[in-house]
Amino acid sequence: LDHPFKEATAIIENIENNGHEAYFVGGCVRDFLLGREIRDVDIATSATPTFIQKIFEKVIPVGIEHGTVIVRHLHTSYEITTFRIDGAYSDQRHPDQVSFINKIDKDLERRDFTINAMAMDKQGKIIDLFDGRKDIANRIIRTVGNGYDRFREDALRMIRAVRFASQLGFSLDLETKEQINTLKHEVNKLAVERISNEMEKFFAGTYVSKAFEELKTTELVYQLPVFKEHSDLIKRLPREQSPLHSLAEVFAFFHLLKQEITIQYWIKAWKASNQTKQEATLLIRAVINYRTYDLNDWTIYQLPRHLYGAFRRLLKALLEKRPSYEEIERIATDLPIKTRNQLQLNGNDVVGQFPGVDKGPWIQKRLHEMEYLVVMRELPNDKDRLKEWLQSNPPGAN
Ligand code: ATP
Ligand code: MG
Repeated sequence: LDHPFKEATAIIENIENNGHEAYFVGGCVRDFLLGREIRDVDIATSATPTFIQKIFEKVIPVGIEHGTVIVRHLHTSYEITTFRIDGAYSDQRHPDQVSFINKIDKDLERRDFTINAMAMDKQGKIIDLFDGRKDIANRIIRTVGNGYDRFREDALRMIRAVRFASQLGFSLDLETKEQINTLKHEVNKLAVERISNEMEKFFAGTYVSKAFEELKTTELVYQLPVFKEHSDLIKRLPREQSPLHSLAEVFAFFHLLKQEITIQYWIKAWKASNQTKQEATLLIRAVINYRTYDLNDWTIYQLPRHLYGAFRRLLKALLEKRPSYEEIERIATDLPIKTRNQLQLNGNDVVGQFPGVDKGPWIQKRLHEMEYLVVMRELPNDKDRLKEWLQSNPPGAN
């Protein structure tokens, strides 16, 4: 086996040498068979977490009660999970109790979809009890066992089905789809954070446009936060030509389109992460600046590089003119400063200019003004010139 399994083989060997079984399992086996880039290599084992803690040096107990620990090996983290069967998911978050078992069969059976329920040994031999390879070949997402039961056990699996459709470009098996349509209301019992987490991956998927159709035909979309009370919004989401690729983009899109549903409302309803909130806020500000001042230095200065794509997609989705990547890059490269740290005066320097004046919000205000003036080339980034400017704009002045 090649990278990244090669590096992880030593872990499996250590477990085997201590009398237990261990396999690569889940997403890494699926992505390996698909020739997709493999992100994390997860391992399943007959050894208990306590046993793993004994035989490895660096072990982080991330979820001992569910049988998962992280082993650090060659600067990489590996999740090692004990073979287990799950009890009921009555809180729709975690199984109430898990039981450790010593054969892999039942562990594979508790997994959500056939494509995710394969294991591979250190020689590369695949254990495929539910025809996962066949479903990979036919590009099908199908539950392991009866979908009605599996979705009732954990309704998140319905969202995961469309999430994988979006990432892999697969179709939902016809029965799986009908079962989702029947049980879609169960999504309302889920912790919202779990939905947001999967939907973030859904939007980031390469095949999000196609998967969005599945989200609609299964009617899952009508169960999602905000969309369930405002189903009219669904048809306003941009189609194939201009899909949005994150929750931040979707939230910003509707905030800019329809002011009555604001970003604050979206964030709260989706219990979105701070990162999503920050990104959405930055995107909204960039679009508003761009509408008012065009693509000026300040607009680009305030927009982090990783959001350039999102910014352009958002403008396209809003049917507004948009700058090319080259234009954005050119402005970004030529900016007089890239961050506030590069300003030749810092907070202490500003205070130092006015001995005897109390510290206060005025300091940040002056720093921000200088930052703007330097970025817009109305002031050179030069200590003496900035000090001069401060002297003509002392703390009391506006
Ligand atoms: P990704 O590459 O996006 O991480 P993944 O397949 O590794 O995809 P994870 O959410 O990391 O997905 O889950 C790891 C594995 O655990 C899955 O492949 C699946 O076998 C199992 N699994 C995860 N969540 C569930 C669930 N809710 N119900 C049943 N099995 C699950
Ligand atoms: Mg994973």
